[in-house]
Amino acid sequence: MTRAYNFNAGPSALPLPVLQKAQAELVDFRGAGMSIMEMSHRGKEYEAVHNEAAGLLKELMAVPADYDVLFLQGGASLQFAMVPMNFLPAGRKAGYILTGSWAEKAYGEAKQFGEVFEVASTKSDNYRRIPAVADLRYPPDAAYIHLTSNNTIFGTEWSAFPDTGAVPLIADMSSDILARPVDVSKFALIYAGAQKNLGPAGVTVAILRRSLLERANTAVPTMLRYATHAKDNSLYNTPPTFAIYLVGLVLGWVKEQGGVAAVYKRNQAKAALIYDVVDNSGGFYRGHAAADSRSLMNITFRLASEDLEKKFLDEAKKAGFVGLGGHRSVGGCRASAYNAVPEEACRALSQFMLDFQKNNG
Ligand SMILES: *Cc1c(COP(=O)(O)O)cnc(C)c1O
Repeated sequence: MTRAYNFNAGPSALPLPVLQKAQAELVDFRGAGMSIMEMSHRGKEYEAVHNEAAGLLKELMAVPADYDVLFLQGGASLQFAMVPMNFLPAGRKAGYILTGSWAEKAYGEAKQFGEVFEVASTKSDNYRRIPAVADLRYPPDAAYIHLTSNNTIFGTEWSAFPDTGAVPLIADMSSDILARPVDVSKFALIYAGAQKNLGPAGVTVAILRRSLLERANTAVPTMLRYATHAKDNSLYNTPPTFAIYLVGLVLGWVKEQGGVAAVYKRNQAKAALIYDVVDNSGGFYRGHAAADSRSLMNITFRLASEDLEKKFLDEAKKAGFVGLGGHRSVGGCRASAYNAVPEEACRALSQFMLDFQKNNG
């Protein structure tokens, strides 16, 4: 079997040992005579898998004891609505930091439920950078401040997060959760669709400070209240059992790698392999993100013309690289080097880029 060099932006690469373990257990889950997909979500076997996944996430991210880990559905996109539905009361305003398309979508969705304001935006810079933390201004009675930790489409990432004090800080970490150590206690709520760094599509993780629920709106449909899921350990209704099982396997794999700190170190080395080629190409490759705002996960770059980009992408495809086209909204090239992308794939890509420049520069 040959595994592709998979740089897909999401859904994206999963660790090979995780896929192999899932394959080995697919038909007969640990001697049960059935697949985990065929089991009751109320049974002991599934419950153990469910709790182990939540426990591993708490352990790996050093989640403080006053937080809950929730498994939700509807993707990060439903979180864009659930956040204001639950935490934006009438008469208050929520601040959004606009650093790219996903942040804009979260902002647009919140507008449907209450009053919002822009804390900062880097749109006029084509989202090339993250705003300086010192420049963020918001009133002390803001309902919450929302940010997107990693901008999957533009390839920028916060290197340090603002300290919002008593104002709850809420983060969409869909594309860099577990990529680097994060101080969870700075956030009232972190959410992430699983399909980039955590597992397959179909489950969304939320890490929620319990005290935030005390100020939650109550006129919200049952399934869209965080309190519903927190109260029932994410088993209020049937959860996406197979997706949560796979998340648990991915988390076990991260732990085997040495935890988030070790994965972070590897991610830095992986991204450097590609950024170094961009930086030393004399302008042949042009990075989109400002150097101090670069993402470890999504490396975005352009070539001199769209024709040359097309040639690059065509030849890359023939050489076994998958998913290097930029997002349809921005064009160019993007290499998504999530946790599960092996260093070997990044090394192969950096060599391919060097060779392509030699032949076309
Ligand atoms: C992929 C992505 C989303 C969208 O996630 P869905 O699960 O498809 O709704 C939202 N935010 C960020 C930062 C993303 O990378």
